[in-house]
Order: sequence, then C-alpha cells, then structure tokens
Amino acid sequence: LRRNPGEAEFHQAVREVFESLEPVLRKKPQYVEAAVLQRICEPERQIVFRVPWIDDAGQVQINRGFRVEFNSALGPYKGGLRFHPSVYLGIVKFLGFEQIFKNSLTGMPIGGGKGGSDFDPRGKSDREVMRFCQSFMTELYRHIGEYTDVPAGDIGVGGREIGYLFGQYKRITNRYESGVLTGKGLTWGGSLVRTEATGFGTVMFAESMLAAHGQDFDARRVTVSGSGNVAIYAIAKAQQLGANVVAFSDSSGYVVDEAGVDLDLLRQVKEVERGRVADYVARRPGSRLVTDGSIWDVPTDVALPCATQNELDESHAKQLVANGVVAVAEGANMPTTPQAVALLQEAGVLFAPGKAANAGGVATSALEMQQNASRDAWSFDYTEERLRQIMTRIHDQCVETAEEYGTPGNYVLGANIAGFTKVADAMIALGVI
Ligand code: NDP
Repeated sequence: LRRNPGEAEFHQAVREVFESLEPVLRKKPQYVEAAVLQRICEPERQIVFRVPWIDDAGQVQINRGFRVEFNSALGPYKGGLRFHPSVYLGIVKFLGFEQIFKNSLTGMPIGGGKGGSDFDPRGKSDREVMRFCQSFMTELYRHIGEYTDVPAGDIGVGGREIGYLFGQYKRITNRYESGVLTGKGLTWGGSLVRTEATGFGTVMFAESMLAAHGQDFDARRVTVSGSGNVAIYAIAKAQQLGANVVAFSDSSGYVVDEAGVDLDLLRQVKEVERGRVADYVARRPGSRLVTDGSIWDVPTDVALPCATQNELDESHAKQLVANGVVAVAEGANMPTTPQAVALLQEAGVLFAPGKAANAGGVATSALEMQQNASRDAWSFDYTEERLRQIMTRIHDQCVETAEEYGTPGNYVLGANIAGFTKVADAMIALGVI
C-alpha cells in the first residue's frame, strides 16, 4: 500500500489473488524463498507518456498514455489498451496484474501487460480518434513488437482504433509486422472469431460450469451488462445455446426486452451507429429503458457482467440471490466486488471469475499471432473450435486445482492458483531477474 498509494483497483486485484495463495505457499515454500509474491506484484516496466493531439476545432488537447509491462516470464507482454476517461495508473496496473494469470491459464506463451489512456473516444469524430491514435503510437511504437509487447483492444478500443494504431506503427517502423497488435481487421492480418472471442468464450465457460452441475443455458433467462464488444457476443452465444437474453445496458441505463434481445438491431445501434441504448428502445416495440436502479434488479437465472470493474456490488448480489440466480460469469475484468463474490459463493451460486471466464479474448489473440507468424488465415469454424477447446481446458484446470487444494467448486481459488503456479515456476526457472 505504501509503495503504490492511491491505486485502489490495483490493491483490490492483488489482494484477491494473494488471499487464494495461502495453501500454495504452505505446500511450496520455494515460492516464498524466491520472493515470488514480492516480485510478481512489481511491474517489470511502466511507461507513462504525453499524448498531444489537435481536435477538430484546432485546439491542442493533451492526454496521458500508459503501458504497464507487468510480467514476461511466459512470453511477450500481452494485453489490451483501454481508452476511457477513468483510466489512470491504478486501473492499468490492476488490469495488467490480472492479465498475468489469465494469460497463464490460456496455456499459450504470453506474458501480461496492459495500457491505455484517459482519452474519451465518445463524441469524438473519426478524424479526432485517428489523430489521437497516431500520436499515442508515435510514443508507444518504441516499446512494443512481436517479440516484446503485443497490445490489443479493451474498453473504447475496437477495430477502428487498432487500425489507426497499426497504420501509424507500420509507417514509423517501415515494417509490416502483423504480430505487433491483435484485433486487426480481416483483410490486414486479423483473425476470424477474435471479435466474438471474449463474449463467446465467457458463455462457453459458463456452459461448462453449468454442465458440471447438471444444467445448461436452454430456455434460461440471462442478463448481460454492457453493450460493447464483450456483451454483444456473450448475448449472441447465449442465444445460440437457447437462452432468452432479457436485459443489457450501457452507462446511460439498462434495457429490458422480455421478448429476447434483437441482436441485429443491437449490433446496428452499437457497432454501426455508435449509438446509445435509448436508440435501441426507440426502434424496438415492447422494450423499455430504465435509467435508475440496476440491471441486476432484473430477475435472471444467469448473470453475465460484461461492462466494467466493480459494477456488481453486495446489494446487487443480494438482489440476484433473492431472485434465484443460478450462475454468474464475469465477461468484464473484476466486475464483481469481493464482498459480492463472497455473498454469491456462500449462497451456492456458481461463480466464474473473469480471469478464467473472459480469457477467450486473449487466447484468440494468441491464435491471431500464430496465424500472423505462419502467414496463414484459419476458417471461422476451426478457430472457434480451438477457442472452445481452450475454454474447456481452462474450466477443467480451475475445477481440478480447486479440488487439489481442498475447495471443490471454488472457481476463484482454482483460477488464481492454476494461473499463479505456472508463472511462479517460470519465474524461478529464469532466476532472480
Ligand atoms: P467496450 O468499450 O466495447 O464496451 C464497454 C461497455 O461497457 C459499453 O456498453 C459501456 O457503456 C459499458 N461501460 C463501460 N464503462 C462503464 C461504466 N463505468 N458504467 C457503466 N457501463 C460502462 O468494451 P469491451 O466490451 O471490450 O470491454 C468490457 C469489459 O470486458 C472490460 O472490463 C474489459 O476489460 C473486459 N474484457 C474485454 C476483452 C476484449 O476482448 N474486448 C477481453 C477481456 C476482458 P458506454 O458506452 O455507455 O460507456
């Protein structure tokens, strides 16, 4: 706490992992001797930089850029960029720290990192976003590379932003280095399924978790918070599995659509028009917009928080339990507060933590890197099958590890320990560096 003052989200993420590790440290004293815990929560490198750009009115704007290169024991740093006004070092460090364990769980050779800016893409013109991205990359390019650090998208960073970032990287370096960024467009090095991967993977993980308890998605009521990249494809996959998705949200409120979300309309509003949830309601008879209260008030069987950190607190968890929720799977990073997680687990609700459940995005990014390295492009079905296998393996790893450490069914503990031990073993093998 004294070393990292004011970084509340980072402290929360570290505490959550470290609390799970007690039984491991008892069993494997070599981790204590090698000071793995002290080393693992200190980023290998943190880069903070000025991002000057000129808006459409000709005014100079200044934002702050970040890249935290947290841990490269397993491979090059890998993790997204977030553009949102709430971004500061504590958010980037929490996300980067989570990313270490998530990437380890995927079984792919990728280390952990994260970055972003306090730039708000909302309400900005395409040209403003482009000028910002070009300025951001004009500093970032010297720190990244296929073998060094491979950024991707996150909140506020989708295909458009990755395009502008990649274009500037290519221009500055004079290298068509496809593997330097993931989430690219399909005609310039991207992978099929990457757009869908995080949402699809979250639902696949939830499906495995439900199946392990004799249940499935068919005819279940599902609520999904957010309406961005992760939320949209979580809705799509849940619907494919026969669920009735009845609610989604953005920061202006939530929508209840008892007839089941019209996915084509939602994609048109959010992906094409970059509109608000009210624009969906305006064109969808029978749906309604709620601007007070919380989406977690809506009765549901399965809740998928897919918006942002700490969006589901203890009072929301109580409401979900009172309404008979069966499972909660995190599509977002750390959307459930520690108190809410404890409450859900005590009430017997199946709970899938983000670092396991949303790992499909980064796993598919690693598949994109594989395709780039071999100058290949795989089919949708093949790539989705690879994603499914990875999600099943992550699920099974969580279950087996939780059992091994005497807490069967505790996916939080299983994910934290399984993710940690692989990184810790690699760190010890590589020496004190
Ligand atoms: P998007 O920017 O595509 O969408 C984010 C959604 O969440 C929007 O609907 C946004 O609403 C809403 N939201 C964001 N902040 C808030 C807030 N403070 N209060 C209420 N709603 C909010 O981002 P993604 O879908 O990519 O990311 C969502 C989550 O998933 C994040 O936690 C991210 O870290 C995590 N994640 C993403 C991965 C990916 O591949 N994209 C991979 C793994 C995790 P509004 O438009 O009104 O701001």
